[in-house]
Amino acid sequence: MTKHNCAICGAEIGLVSEQKLADGNFICRKVCSKKTFKIYDKVNATLGDVTAHIEQVEKGTRIWNELLLPLKKAKDKKQKLKCLGTGGPLLYVSPSTGLVALVETNYKFFLFGKTQKACVYRLADLMQYTYEEEKVKGSDGKMETKKYCAMMFKDTAGMYGFRLGVSNSQSFDSIEKYFDTLFGIQKTLRNSFKNAKRQMDAIKSVTSAAKAAAAGTLDEEQAAATVGALDASVYGDRTEWIRKADEALAAFQ
Ligand SMILES: [Zn+2]
Repeated sequence: MTKHNCAICGAEIGLVSEQKLADGNFICRKVCSKKTFKIYDKVNATLGDVTAHIEQVEKGTRIWNELLLPLKKAKDKKQKLKCLGTGGPLLYVSPSTGLVALVETNYKFFLFGKTQKACVYRLADLMQYTYEEEKVKGSDGKMETKKYCAMMFKDTAGMYGFRLGVSNSQSFDSIEKYFDTLFGIQKTLRNSFKNAKRQMDAIKSVTSAAKAAAAGTLDEEQAAATVGALDASVYGDRTEWIRKADEALAAFQ
């Protein structure tokens, strides 16, 4: 039987204790694989992906323990964390720092302490939160439908997307509404005047850019303004969220 060596720590690993990665590398289950999130898809990840994720977890866990966890018990309502999701890792949103943390809790022994690891993201980088369902076979052999809020963050090394477990589609709706409100996005037909104006600005900007493109006079500045106007209408204005997150993260660079 061929033995492999862990591509991260170098330990010799056997068939049972090895985890094969997408690029053919192997890592050990005993130490290195445990540094990743359980939901992290190692089978489809390369060695570079896994090491980026492990760095993300090390940094995120530090930020969680030193900055965010203390806010969980904050007396000031504005500083409190909002906890979302159910089942696996939970998502904690910190509007006062502009950060979100996906936190996995592992219980060492029954009732005798726990360890937590975290991936921390800038709220401003949250690009997608959509509803997903998946039919899976439960432990009793019956089919059950799992429900998720699928989330995607831009400009993020490591695990940039994941599915947060939700109990039903109504709890997804309230999560969607929560983020829409934070970003000032209104998806309902009852658009406010402000939002309608913003969309009009976006449409106008795109129309004039399209005309300029047809005439061959579209310049880079105009193109950037168009993208900016569209972004603001779809994703909301995130300037304030970027400022808050950068301020909070400055101590952890
Ligand atoms: Zn290892």
